[in-house]
Amino acid sequence: MKLRVGIVGFGQMGQAIAQVSAVAGHSLLIYDTNAEALEQGLESIDTNLEKLRSLGKVHDTEGMNALLNLQMVTDIADLKDCDLAIEAVVENYQVKTELLKRLSHINQTGIIVTNTSSLSSNRLAESVLNPKRFMGLHFMNPVSTIPLVEVVKSKTTTAETTNIVLQFCQSLNKTVVQTKDQPGFIVNRLLLPMINQAIHALEDELASAHDIDVAMRLGANWPIGPLALADLIGLDTCLAILENLATEGKSLTFPPSNLLKEKVAKQKLGKKTKAGFFTY
Ligand code: NAD
Repeated sequence: MKLRVGIVGFGQMGQAIAQVSAVAGHSLLIYDTNAEALEQGLESIDTNLEKLRSLGKVHDTEGMNALLNLQMVTDIADLKDCDLAIEAVVENYQVKTELLKRLSHINQTGIIVTNTSSLSSNRLAESVLNPKRFMGLHFMNPVSTIPLVEVVKSKTTTAETTNIVLQFCQSLNKTVVQTKDQPGFIVNRLLLPMINQAIHALEDELASAHDIDVAMRLGANWPIGPLALADLIGLDTCLAILENLATEGKSLTFPPSNLLKEKVAKQKLGKKTKAGFFTY
């Protein structure tokens, strides 16, 4: 099954989803409001594919064909014939609903999925023209190495839509878990409160950032410490998820720490800005 896939939002997740989809042989049309993101994203996919090819993780032909499968567009209207459009813009309800509304008017035949980390699929479905062809598809970062995706049906998603999305996941060799539409789904409902607690611990001067991460790597067998993981996710995204968990989920987590808010206010967003809890 080869699909024409549209990606809207070519930040770290959009790029990574585009990369694995292109390697799997799907053809990609990619749109972002930021022209620089389009240019940088393509360069970083090229570099990643080269690395994967040298490690033997992607065959030479797969890597070369993948690049041919990627096409940048500067007009979102070019996504009108995509079989599947993947929304991966910032974790902001208003930005997502405006975009999804527009996209669903442009593309009236394909399926639209959102890569939201924490927002309700049912609420987002209200903004699309045909909610039967809409659902959540939550990839994990880094997409090329993490085998899991969370599939989140809304009340209106049809079985036909779900089946096509599941086949797409299978084509990417992803393991799927289906979750109800509750704040943070499975992974972020459990993970983000722990990351938040690590930031609170740093704020309370319990230990250094380095030692908090070493403690969780060596003491709890985490592959990466919680503060390094927050930097990888993006501190703006962590803050947005925690705020969504706090407002939509009520008792699911403590409020986001002041230290996290300060970092975001200073645009120290983690790896993507080369500074967060650590520097890169
Ligand atoms: P990011 O900040 O790296 O990228 C967001 C991109 O969206 C930017 O390139 C920006 O220019 C673009 N954008 C913003 N508004 C737009 C619009 N109206 N139209 C088109 N493009 C627009 O963010 P990210 O980390 O890639 O996260 C994207 C989504 O994926 C969020 O919903 C996030 O919660 C989710 N997600 C993130 C992670 C993670 O670890 N970072 C993991 C899973 C899911």
